[in-house]
Amino acid sequence: MRLRARDLYRLARDVRRASRGLRFRLTATYAALFVLMLVGAVWLARAQLAGSLETLATDSLDEDWTALKGNILRIERNPDSGAYEAYWYYDKDDPDETTVVLDIKKVLLITDSAGKVIEDHETEAPAVSTVYQGLPQDTPAQIQARVRQWVTAHKPGQAGKPFWMQKRDHAGKLFQIRAAVMWDEKRHDPFYVELGTSLAKNEEILRRYSVMTFAGVIPCATLLGWLVGWLVAGRALTPVRDVAQTAQRITGSNLGLRIPSRHSGDELDYLILTFNRMIERLEASFGQMKQFSADVSHELRTPITAIRGQLEVALMTAGTTDQYREAMFNALQDIDRLSQIVRALLLLSQAESGQLALARARLDLGLVLEDLAEQFQIPAEGAGVQLTAQCAAGCFIDADRVQIERMITNLLSNALKFTPVGGAIRLSARPLDASVELVVEDTGRGIAAQHLPHIFDRFYRVPGSGTAPAPEQGLGLGLSFVAWIVRAHDGVIDVESTPGKGTRFTIKLPAVGAAALPELAAPATDLA
Ligand code: ADP
Repeated sequence: MRLRARDLYRLARDVRRASRGLRFRLTATYAALFVLMLVGAVWLARAQLAGSLETLATDSLDEDWTALKGNILRIERNPDSGAYEAYWYYDKDDPDETTVVLDIKKVLLITDSAGKVIEDHETEAPAVSTVYQGLPQDTPAQIQARVRQWVTAHKPGQAGKPFWMQKRDHAGKLFQIRAAVMWDEKRHDPFYVELGTSLAKNEEILRRYSVMTFAGVIPCATLLGWLVGWLVAGRALTPVRDVAQTAQRITGSNLGLRIPSRHSGDELDYLILTFNRMIERLEASFGQMKQFSADVSHELRTPITAIRGQLEVALMTAGTTDQYREAMFNALQDIDRLSQIVRALLLLSQAESGQLALARARLDLGLVLEDLAEQFQIPAEGAGVQLTAQCAAGCFIDADRVQIERMITNLLSNALKFTPVGGAIRLSARPLDASVELVVEDTGRGIAAQHLPHIFDRFYRVPGSGTAPAPEQGLGLGLSFVAWIVRAHDGVIDVESTPGKGTRFTIKLPAVGAAALPELAAPATDLA
């Protein structure tokens, strides 16, 4: 018993879940629309059928009336009694004619203009059929009114418009009644004649039609519509399910998974493409993150290992204070390097996560170059390198001065590091189209072509050679930071280098007010 209750609960939960699904809703909408249209069409067809059947009945009554009036029925005075009677003229030996007359007489009433039933000469009984007597009767007053209406509307001999009525007998059978006026032979008096026919067959046809359609066709078609809708919706939603399943399988370790495209060019293909691209981007940034954490741990491990080594050696071998001092001095140097790395990383991660807000203002790049050239003059002289700076007027940019200075400082320190004694470093800026072009070039050792695409990557250092300082001295973070600053200022950076001859970094930043200051762009000032 307990199990049954649980099963029922599960079933209810599954049904509830399914009814909230897109497939269910699509199918329900489709089926509802389908049923609505079907019911509408069936209803319209039924109305058409009912109309046609009624027309058939009225046409048949019209025909009967024409035959009746033509020669079968005449209202004449009985020569004996002098009263008006209904006389029937037809060949009593002809079975066809007899059938027609008997058929007409089935639902029949003939009265005078006062509504009094006249005698049937043939049967010598009142000219009203038994069937008619079973129907709701018209009162003499109603009959008089209709006759009056007819007589005023139509002249004798003129074909008149009949009165149409529907009456139901006690058993519920429906009859169509046609009432009209007929004149006597001499056209003295009008007589009222009602002819009728049973509509039971029509009603039966309509009833069967309704039962067949509403109890048979519509439920079957609805079921079929639901089934087809369910299948079609299921097929249409298969790719969505695939996307969901693939998405579920994707974790940090298998980001290479992709959903195969169906090449149908539809919305779902677009969804798959978008999803795949998103995974691609995720994979790329995951890769970067992995690389980054590997690099960081490597970078941190080197100085830590060095510190540990130095301290261990000192502990085991050092005997004098000087030896301890030297070990501690070396360890401190490595700790400095560690904190340098940590600081640089912190700054870079702040920059890349958007936490480092730029304080942008209109900035004259000429003044910045002038300041920095001055600052670097002494180290350059110390390194035996000639430093010159040139800035054309009108180098205005919308930038954060601190970051721009940091960018140029990084480039200048690199140039100084990698340019041997007797070399030269040239710093220059000029307006170019809608930008300002900044160039930092040196006659240093240059960078081999295979390293050029990587120098802006974090921790990337070109393996050192010859006179250049050991690569461990740099952190390999300077150019990543330069690249970020250029990007943050909507600029572009480019590098050209020839090993042994020199390197040239070109940065283009959007200019401001360049159009307003064309005449100032003329003389170049030697800032060095
Ligand atoms: P670092 O902080 O170690 O200098 P960077 O990111 O600034 O690292 O530079 C990456 C590498 O690019 C350096 O290791 C160096 O080999 C190379 N490089 C950068 N600037 C120059 C230059 N002006 N001349 C030659 N090599 C350079």
